[in-house]
Amino acid sequence: CGGAIPKGPVVCSPVCGNPYAGLVSHLRAAWLSGKTRPLEYRLAQLEALGRFLEEKKQDILEATALDMGKPSFEAYFTEILLCKNELNNTLNNLSHWMKDEHVDKNLVTQLDSAFIRKDPYGVVLIIAPWNYPIHLFLVPLIGAIAAGNCVVVKPSEIAKNTERLVAEVLTCYLDSDCFAVVTAGVQETTRLLENKFDYIFFTGSPSVGRIVMTAAAKHLTPVTLELGGKNPCYVSDTCDVQNVARRVAWGRFFNAGQTCIAPDYILCSVEMQDKLMPALREAITEYFGPNPQESPDFARIVGDKQFRRVRALLCSGRVAIGGQTDEKERYIAPTVLADVQPSDPAMQEEIFGPILPIVVVADMDEAIDFINARPRPLAVYAFSCDSKVVNQVLERTSSGSFCGNDTLMQVTLTSLPFGGIGNSGLGKYHGKFTFDTFSQHRGCLHRNMGLEAINSLRYPPYNQQKLGL
Ligand code: NAD
Repeated sequence: CGGAIPKGPVVCSPVCGNPYAGLVSHLRAAWLSGKTRPLEYRLAQLEALGRFLEEKKQDILEATALDMGKPSFEAYFTEILLCKNELNNTLNNLSHWMKDEHVDKNLVTQLDSAFIRKDPYGVVLIIAPWNYPIHLFLVPLIGAIAAGNCVVVKPSEIAKNTERLVAEVLTCYLDSDCFAVVTAGVQETTRLLENKFDYIFFTGSPSVGRIVMTAAAKHLTPVTLELGGKNPCYVSDTCDVQNVARRVAWGRFFNAGQTCIAPDYILCSVEMQDKLMPALREAITEYFGPNPQESPDFARIVGDKQFRRVRALLCSGRVAIGGQTDEKERYIAPTVLADVQPSDPAMQEEIFGPILPIVVVADMDEAIDFINARPRPLAVYAFSCDSKVVNQVLERTSSGSFCGNDTLMQVTLTSLPFGGIGNSGLGKYHGKFTFDTFSQHRGCLHRNMGLEAINSLRYPPYNQQKLGL
């Protein structure tokens, strides 16, 4: 297999000087041929994705380890298992999801057929970030294929080893007439976005999300934007401190904090901050030993630029745990910052690294006001032994997802929609939601040719009796 570019007139279009126009028109011709529509075709492509995951498992673990020191357990869980989960769910349910949905009718349409057809959009573009570099293009791709689309996948250029692997082997598994991988940095992606796609699924930062949405707007292309932000985690005074510390530390330090739904900061009382600190220290030592830099279970920051950005956030509040850094290895220790002020650097942007600030609040009401005064996050977390407290936080805040008494675990359910709201994104996916995202719900009415006497009531010439007056 020659790699990322499918056969056909793909590289250059001298007419408009658009380097990707050939590729897009090649895919569009394939889509118009109707090739991707039959259930059997979709299932065959999805099964091929399953073989990709199985046969390239070791290569995926190695590439993500090279890119960000991703521990193999974490890589296996997120890049392989969760994807297989999505894939199996889709394979098992696709024939059912694809069926026309028959809907209620009125008196005049009693003899007709009224239904919702799940139509593919056409040629769709998936742009992915680097932090879960397989999962974040593969899960949307599963839904895009399931819905019968042709797809251009643009993995992140930052996770360069994974990008190379995807470019070299993914299209060997898929029908190269219908699916392509484009390797592109910012400049090339800007050119790619000049083309008309029928749907764009973007995962990344809110600032780039705006750029993508602006480019899509030129063609009135619908978008899903899976973005980021700061996910608050409220810890009430009544809770099992050890369990809270273990669950928060796991969610914050998984993939060295480079997870879009990681708890970004804790809100709690000053008394709870005092209790949490030894429990967090114990959890961190339990997970990564006395020197996390030597632990095979703790990842590194993906690049130098990202390392310097995260390191600069350490000068917030007081370093209570960790704080050590090593630029050569792009290592930042699992760190907890105490008494962080809302004006500190760590509270001005998404941390996206292994730093957990604690901001002290008087009580739950103040925590809720704090959350509601900021952009709506991808996830809100609340810990309490009192389910009324958890429910209050759920009830009085707004976010893409919510998890009470744990972190990240909402992502493991294909039955839950995943996505943001406001600044954290637009649209949902996972499980059937991904299939629906990539399907145009086409309202269809197929009329019976008889009963013209009833139909004539709506034809001119009009009169009052025809309205039943
Ligand atoms: P990013 O926005 O910098 O890049 C994402 C993708 O956009 C990459 O493929 C990149 O090549 C491309 N890109 C970058 N600049 C571009 C431009 N000017 N024009 C066109 N394309 C451009 O994000 P990142 O650094 O890769 O990832 C981190 C961000 O992604 C964080 O904010 C994180 O919260 C978010 N994220 C969100 C989710 C989610 O599911 N909501 C998942 C993972 C990461």
